[in-house]
Amino acid sequence: MDEFALIEKLLVPAAGRRDDVVLGIGDDGAVLEPPAGEQLVVVADTLVDGVHFPRGFPAADIAYRALAVNLSDLAAMGATPYWATLALTIPQADETWLRPFTDTLRDTLGRYRIALVGGDTTRGPLTVTVQLIGGVPRGTALTRHGARSGDAIYVSGCTGDAAAGLQCLQRATATSPDEDTLIEKFRHPQPRLALGVALRGIASACIDISDGLLADLGHIAARSGCGAEIVDASVLLSPALRRECAPDVALSMALTGGDDYELCFTVPPSAQKLFAQISGEFPEVRLIGKMIAGSGVQVVGASEAWRTTQPGFRHF
Ligand code: ADP
Ligand code: MG
Repeated sequence: MDEFALIEKLLVPAAGRRDDVVLGIGDDGAVLEPPAGEQLVVVADTLVDGVHFPRGFPAADIAYRALAVNLSDLAAMGATPYWATLALTIPQADETWLRPFTDTLRDTLGRYRIALVGGDTTRGPLTVTVQLIGGVPRGTALTRHGARSGDAIYVSGCTGDAAAGLQCLQRATATSPDEDTLIEKFRHPQPRLALGVALRGIASACIDISDGLLADLGHIAARSGCGAEIVDASVLLSPALRRECAPDVALSMALTGGDDYELCFTVPPSAQKLFAQISGEFPEVRLIGKMIAGSGVQVVGASEAWRTTQPGFRHF
């Protein structure tokens, strides 16, 4: 299959439609009609074979992940996704690889009502770059820089599972149900788009957790010019992670493991009432600490005592 056949046969049918696409795939550029009164939010992330996913990772999972990591960035900005571009570099135009890739691309684009409006297709080592363009009502984008000392810090769910899941994948032995749960979190992170939208006008800062909770919260702290203090026992550990890992390993995964794509955000005291009105819709959200004067991220708590309350001990 040559480049043009690939585009016509596999990518155009996967592209999806939106009324605001004036001109999509097929010209030198796409022409798009942004919604009135909105600002556009643009994100891009590249996945490289053997770097961002293990070699031999299924084509369908690569397609999902390439969209999910970008959707997560839009979620962290409080944005709604509209349009995508795809720069696809593949060693050869192998239809048995491309089919599941474009099928999942189509399904995932459809699920989030995104139109694929252009891209580039080249030969080379497997590399997938997706760019997403979304929007927010003017002035409502969430950022990393608005947190202040005294703001409460929240996380949208369990962290550490994806990092543990990646380790399970890399061992490539038969897996237990708990290991399958962890692997699933690595394979299919769920971008927190509804939460991001709900946090407009409420969160003072927001980031998605791609590099690990401590590292990413550290970005909020640095950009906001303050420090952060989190309580170790308040960090939510999934039952699968607790069963699979020794308590100290599970905690360290939850604090430093990447790839979970949960949201970490801060809420100022002045917005707590508004936050209380929406938080019922997001039961997975947990309070984990507060922003403080100073700089950096501190973890406080009695992790020794907490450790001894956990049963079992299993090493990865
Ligand atoms: P050009 O030579 O002008 O850059 P191309 O021949 O590379 O155009 O691409 C033809 C059309 O197909 C363009 O509209 C381009 O955006 C689209 N396209 C190419 N590769 C992809 C891709 N991987 N995903 C989506 N659209 C693509
Ligand atoms: Mg051109």
